[in-house]
Amino acid sequence: MTNFYVMTLFPEMIEACLGGSIIGRAREKGIISVNAVNIRDYTLDKHKKVDDYCYSGGAGMLMQPDPVCRCHEAICSEMGLPDGVKPRTVYVTPQGTRFTEQMAVDFSKEEYLIFLCGHYEGIDERALELVATDYVSIGDYVLTGGEMPACIMIDAISRLIPGVLNNEESAVGESFTDGLLEYPQYTRPPEYRGLRVPEILLSGDHAKIEQWKLEQALKRTYERRPEMYEEYLRTHKLPKKTILPDKKEGKL
Ligand code: SAM
Repeated sequence: MTNFYVMTLFPEMIEACLGGSIIGRAREKGIISVNAVNIRDYTLDKHKKVDDYCYSGGAGMLMQPDPVCRCHEAICSEMGLPDGVKPRTVYVTPQGTRFTEQMAVDFSKEEYLIFLCGHYEGIDERALELVATDYVSIGDYVLTGGEMPACIMIDAISRLIPGVLNNEESAVGESFTDGLLEYPQYTRPPEYRGLRVPEILLSGDHAKIEQWKLEQALKRTYERRPEMYEEYLRTHKLPKKTILPDKKEGKL
């Protein structure tokens, strides 16, 4: 079982995001647990204040270190880990390493994962030094808070945990799992507004369909993510001129 803890000032955002659909079902089945913990509950301030002005000046407020550290300690003691064992604690931040499918695979092997969400200008650096083990970003842009990044990461990680997806929702062969974007997909009807499903998919010839899928995945990756395509050719030791059906540069 994978146990996610989310340290946040807005626990309702986590529930709103991870309460339904596939993740909600996995929680009900007890395959994963998601615990949103309110950092504000750990302030000793009588007005429940958790932020203050930055020493470096500027307009924004910064989350203070003490509520963050006390909240983290409470979560760690609830986990009952042996002394000195620190659970992986991810500070979601635009200053972190960019989140990838490979990172999701890595995180999916953990039994306990804590996500720390900042708000306002972020969090006092000393709290981060004391609790964070990983710094991860969802992309090169700045959001108002870490709740959505945490939910995005928990969703991506959870779907890799055995039992979370059922057969119809299988994670096998999806974009990024084998270094390519996925090929285009079609369902019924066979013709829609003048657009036909590619004939090969209706042919029943499984070998040809597999070849078509690979070619389409390569083509799509080449067109939309050229750097990923180059990397795929390099890691699969394929010649630079490897296929692209409409470019007639050779065959796989
Ligand atoms: N002052 C910070 C900076 O310039 O790096 C930005 C703070 S941001 C307004 C508030 C919080 O949102 C951050 O502490 C972080 O937890 C979260 N956040 C914003 N953008 C993010 C991103 N791209 N990836 C992950 N978390 C993000």
